[in-house]
Amino acid sequence: MGLDIIIVGGGMAGSTLALGLAQAGHRATIYEREEVRMSEGLVAVPEFGDVGGGARPTIYNPSSYDVFAVVLLTTKKMNPTGIMITANGLQVFKTFGVLDAIRRQGQSANRNSYMNRIDGTPITCFKMAADDEYVCIMRSTLHKILNEAASALGVRFVCGKRLESFTQTTASETQNASVTVQFADGTSATGDLLIAADGIRSKTRELLFPGANDKPIYTGLRGFLGITRLEDGDPWLTKSSISFYMDTSNRTSVNMMSVGNNLISWNVADHQEEPAEVDSWVPYADFPREAERLAALLESWNAPKDISKIIGNAHRISPITVYDRKSIESWTVGRVTLIGDAAHGMPPHLGQGTSMALEDVGVLVDLLGRFPDDPDRCLRVYEKIRIPRTTKIAEQTRQMGASQYTKSNMQRFVGELGLKFFGWLVSTFDFRVYAYDYAVEVEKQLKIDAASPAASAK
Ligand SMILES: Cc1cc2nc3c(=O)[nH]c(=O)nc-3n(C[C@H](O)[C@H](O)[C@H](O)COP(=O)(O)OP(=O)(O)OC[C@H]3O[C@@H](n4cnc5c(N)ncnc54)[C@H](O)[C@@H]3O)c2cc1C
Repeated sequence: MGLDIIIVGGGMAGSTLALGLAQAGHRATIYEREEVRMSEGLVAVPEFGDVGGGARPTIYNPSSYDVFAVVLLTTKKMNPTGIMITANGLQVFKTFGVLDAIRRQGQSANRNSYMNRIDGTPITCFKMAADDEYVCIMRSTLHKILNEAASALGVRFVCGKRLESFTQTTASETQNASVTVQFADGTSATGDLLIAADGIRSKTRELLFPGANDKPIYTGLRGFLGITRLEDGDPWLTKSSISFYMDTSNRTSVNMMSVGNNLISWNVADHQEEPAEVDSWVPYADFPREAERLAALLESWNAPKDISKIIGNAHRISPITVYDRKSIESWTVGRVTLIGDAAHGMPPHLGQGTSMALEDVGVLVDLLGRFPDDPDRCLRVYEKIRIPRTTKIAEQTRQMGASQYTKSNMQRFVGELGLKFFGWLVSTFDFRVYAYDYAVEVEKQLKIDAASPAASAK
């Protein structure tokens, strides 16, 4: 029969979840607050932007900057960047049958390069283990692949629907338990389950745990994301390496990754006071001026010339502000649960935010596929598997963030030594950094629960 599942938020977590649930025989509908532009074709598929989270209207077309320039002037909400998905997240795409398309339209990478400070001296460059491939891809491209696949299976994507509140009814003799969501436009939707993928500022989380007092926490990290189109033959185009240029004393860094389609996605991080208003991540309209300004800034940091050149030639730049969210001990109340950044928003120091969301999706879809008639059990097991895992990764992320920024020469020396050792370990022993198999974790947890039925009911 399958369940009627309401997904709030059409970002990376919501879109992937909808695809997986449809494949598992459920009826999933995504309700997204943004008015996302729908592409034309046999099925209407939302088009997405590219920044740190979420659905943003865009008609970014990498093969036509004329179109792009016109849109840039007319659309205020267009956000650009690439994203790196690590092997643990890619496993979910593989299960859902979209990995090949993602590989084809992005760029596979298997090396990590860390450069000492901003002057380009290498700290370490190492090859990841054979099964620890990354894929770097434009967010909009990835979103499109996911939403096309989901639409083909009948997933509905309803735009302009901002969740404001929800109510739940418990099961009785005459009716099943259900959730009704109220949207800001006065409409509502009812389903068997509400899975909230509404990002790091999740309204659902606020409503579920009103006393939790866990507002998003500013990390001190402000910066710029950008995209540069490279000419054929540019050595950066074929780089299968993600490159990090760090200046720990001045708390600045630059990352670069090739994302396919002759594009390079970069980010420049600086540390500043929290802005009075959260940046909307909308690209600058006057991007040539911003590109020039940023290139000059990098030159003042003595950044390698090819880096400032790439940034000076940017086609799109957005300002960003980065937040963290404290880990919490429960994500579920009744038939409502959280997923992705709504459950465990974390800063991007380890590039694990989306991969954590994908692991969540893998676990939840697996469980709802096995026990479609017992969603309460699925949510219980989901939390048991996912809360400890994401809490641990969020903690490692915070430690990584702290170690990247230090004024102490001793701490820097130790940090760089650690990084070198890590690189040696990975490349010498083919050590897998991203060896997490969500399906194995589901099996493990179900065995534990089977061994102790009383405990598993909690
Ligand atoms: C600078 C930066 C770089 C990053 N790079 C990486 C990387 O390389 N690799 C990686 O794995 N992770 C990365 N991350 C983390 C990653 O972006 C997030 O973890 C990921 O986007 C989370 O996806 P999500 O779907 O949970 O949330 P989001 O992508 O934030 O999506 C939430 C969606 O919900 C919608 N929404 C919000 N409120 C409502 C509401 N009330 N009603 C309806 N809809 C609503 C929003 O419009 C949005 O579409 C990065 C983050 C930052 C900040």
